[in-house]
Amino acid sequence: MTELISKLEIKKLNQFVQKVQQIVQKIDLFCSAILLQTRRRFYYFFNKREIYTSLKKRQGNCLRCGRCCHASFKCQYLEFDENGLSMCKVYDRKPLMCSLYPYNGNDYFYHLKSTCGYRYDDE
Ligand code: SF4
Ligand code: SF4
Repeated sequence: MTELISKLEIKKLNQFVQKVQQIVQKIDLFCSAILLQTRRRFYYFFNKREIYTSLKKRQGNCLRCGRCCHASFKCQYLEFDENGLSMCKVYDRKPLMCSLYPYNGNDYFYHLKSTCGYRYDDE
């Protein structure tokens, strides 16, 4: 009986630890996304020319996963079609920062780099 109780307690403790780890991971992703978004704006402000030069090397296409549109906060203009592909409700006049993503190999949200359809071969 005592053994059963201690097994249950260990199970509960493990579940608790897992939840804490998930929360920490979410906070980490959120903070890194905010930092990256801020850095992109600063970089654009001080290094516009470099950004546009770098964008010429961007290869591939957007796969419309929509994940970059809710890397930190979910954008209010993000929608998905019946096939699960993302649609921007303001595509024709979307913010410049959205068009620039990712402007070089360091500009990816780090948890999205491997799945994004854009790539930079020289980095
Ligand atoms: S993460 Fe990359 S592939 Fe996905 S929507 Fe954003 S730019 Fe497109
Ligand atoms: S404005 Fe459009 S492209 Fe930009 S984050 Fe929102 S849904 Fe994505």
